[in-house]
Amino acid sequence: INTTSLPDISRAQSAALYETALHYFPGGVNSPVRAFKSVFGTPLFIKKGDGCTVWDADGNQFVDFCCSWGPLILGHNNPVVKQHVLQAIDSGMSFGAPTELENDLASLILSNNKKIEKLRFVSSGTEAVMSAIRLARGYTKRDKILKFDGCYHGHVDSLLVKAGSGLVTFGETSSAGVPKGFADETIVIPLNDKEAVKAAFDQFPGQIAAVIIEGIPANNGLLIQTKEYIQFLREVTKTNQSLLIFDEVITGFRLGFEGAAAYYDVNPDIITYGKIIGGGMPVGAYGASAEIMGHVSPEGSVYQAGTLSGNPVAMAAGIGQLSQLLQPGFYKKLNAKAASFVECIQEFANNRGYKFKVFTAGSMFWFAFTDQNIQAAAEIDASSMTYFKVMHRELLNRGVYLGPSGYEIGFISDAHTAADLDKAKKAIFDSLDIVFL
Ligand code: PLP
Repeated sequence: INTTSLPDISRAQSAALYETALHYFPGGVNSPVRAFKSVFGTPLFIKKGDGCTVWDADGNQFVDFCCSWGPLILGHNNPVVKQHVLQAIDSGMSFGAPTELENDLASLILSNNKKIEKLRFVSSGTEAVMSAIRLARGYTKRDKILKFDGCYHGHVDSLLVKAGSGLVTFGETSSAGVPKGFADETIVIPLNDKEAVKAAFDQFPGQIAAVIIEGIPANNGLLIQTKEYIQFLREVTKTNQSLLIFDEVITGFRLGFEGAAAYYDVNPDIITYGKIIGGGMPVGAYGASAEIMGHVSPEGSVYQAGTLSGNPVAMAAGIGQLSQLLQPGFYKKLNAKAASFVECIQEFANNRGYKFKVFTAGSMFWFAFTDQNIQAAAEIDASSMTYFKVMHRELLNRGVYLGPSGYEIGFISDAHTAADLDKAKKAIFDSLDIVFL
């Protein structure tokens, strides 16, 4: 693929920091996707963020569509979130004892999100999912979990499992260090395939504790499922006395305050949250009916705990962020802004005859080099990622930062102004012209 004659931006400082980081961390990073393995160059080391802009160690400035992988729905350095955090820090960083701030954040959530009645705060999305799985198993007294190929649920042992061969299979571990016995309890099937779901329940009657799905699968492209399919999952789980877990770590408070559960008009049994809920601080949560949550320790027999759970500074950040999302019209405005951005890009690509499709839901988008509607992981053409790789570099050279993998989605925040989006659109148009040269 040809590339532009535009000179590459200087990334010397980032490259030097990365060299140093390689001495300290495996692969130089503290989370693998940051390592720029599927795009050009070494990771950008970010120095500062404000609004929708980030600056790297070399002083380059970017319109940020990664937004810390989703949490920053209000952009960087939001003054209200910051004020809440500073005020909380003044009183101490952590007590390992209850604080009023936990009540305040829970009240804010539960009085505006009728999909759950009680919740438990944890410190990451992974922890939320891990705990939800344990709760589902404890509640149903069954062991097997059904997950979908293409959904990511954090680095939970029993979910680091990929599909084997065949329609309904026990998975194979997708990470070394996950015991085969864990994978044996996980059934993996394709998304958007009712027959596979029915076959799984037929094959393992009375054994499946829960079906877990991302609110909208958004970790392997944006694989938007139909409402009818999601409602089918609700019905089939109910019929089989199995629980439906919605992993809303990305979609929670993103698609709307009640997330994908409201978007699809379903009532999952357990919902997991992360990212936005903590305003950029490490927070996750899982919630359900009071009856199901009554099985969690110390009320019930499903053990789950955390030294830093409900950390006051993190709770304050969550309150600062979520209270702003409840302002009338917040989501309507954000989603309309995102829709018009995405439509404009799609129109440009269509007019040029490019094989390029933008998948979108609310303020999330995914650039795919395809002309097909993609709803399952196997429908993604891995070779199309070569185009993304070039696009990523061209965008960096034009001041736009996307997550460094073509399988990752982009996020639009309240802080993206019309001028920022116009600048980004121009960069995207020019980059597409180069990709398709
Ligand atoms: N579930 C989903 C849907 C996610 O997207 C992620 C992370 O991206 C997780 C769980 C894990 O969350 P965390 O990275 O906070 O552990």
